[in-house]
Amino acid sequence: MRVGGYLLAISVSLAVSGAAQAQRILGPMPSAAPTTSSTPPAPVSTESAAPAAPAPAVATESTCKNPNAIGISRVVEIDTAGGPGFGSQHFKAYDFLQPKEVVLTFDDGPWVTTPILIDALDKECVKALFFPIGLHATYYPQMLKRHDQRGDTIGSHTWSHKDLSKLTPDQAKEEIEKGASAVGLALGHPPAPFFRFPDLRQPPEMISYLGTRNIGIFSTDIDSFDFKMRKPEQVVKSVMAKLKKDGKGIVLIHENHPWSANAVAPLLAELKAGGYKIVHIKAKDPQMQTIPEFDDAVRKELGPANVSQRPMSSVVRTVQ
Ligand SMILES: [Zn+2]
Repeated sequence: MRVGGYLLAISVSLAVSGAAQAQRILGPMPSAAPTTSSTPPAPVSTESAAPAAPAPAVATESTCKNPNAIGISRVVEIDTAGGPGFGSQHFKAYDFLQPKEVVLTFDDGPWVTTPILIDALDKECVKALFFPIGLHATYYPQMLKRHDQRGDTIGSHTWSHKDLSKLTPDQAKEEIEKGASAVGLALGHPPAPFFRFPDLRQPPEMISYLGTRNIGIFSTDIDSFDFKMRKPEQVVKSVMAKLKKDGKGIVLIHENHPWSANAVAPLLAELKAGGYKIVHIKAKDPQMQTIPEFDDAVRKELGPANVSQRPMSSVVRTVQ
């Protein structure tokens, strides 16, 4: 993997209450977030059913088998104290990307599409920033763990993808905290202190609240609008056209749409051909502190049969 070798520390202590509060023009709600479904679809398997060997916590240079991979050009570390915001659609203060640099972010996973996406990232030795929905994390904890094992950064994106601008502050806090707790329970450790608002609807009180929780907020520079599409080539075209115009950016794609998951391989090929570089994001404090009350609320909702911290490989293994 081509790791450029330097870590840019963004030390940010400013609150973001003065940041732009512009609301984006919203399209239809992404078809994911099936908050009422108790029977999520079965995972799409792109690998054998046998439990995978434990992967290293963070992929290292030697794990990249593809000498022509686009890889990671640099790793950026963010100090989330005070809840800084990123992504020019809402936040202008910390425009940290250089020309031709791209951060890939994926929302609304984990889902049956996750293995497709992970395969594409693996082949190009790329890591990305994920904003899973809490409820989805309870459906597919093993898929979320695969992200963790390969070194992706995992934040959170609420419990059930509600529009927080339509909730009371207490309800909105519960959505935020329960989402983080659910991701933490699925991973076996708390998520990174990064958050993205559903549909980028950012109530000012919740921006302030995240500041008190020292959680960094990700809006976006380049929204693929993939929820309006149905084909991978449309997603690639949308992202590449916007990148060509802006020259760089934090890109928002959805993990749970098949056309988006299938767009990742051709998108990485186009990024490589276009001379773009992938930047990976990490938090200075890699794990946020979830709130015990909400950890308990998620545990209660799941029931005792579904709360286990033991990895599958230590519970089930192929013996013959
Ligand atoms: Zn979302």
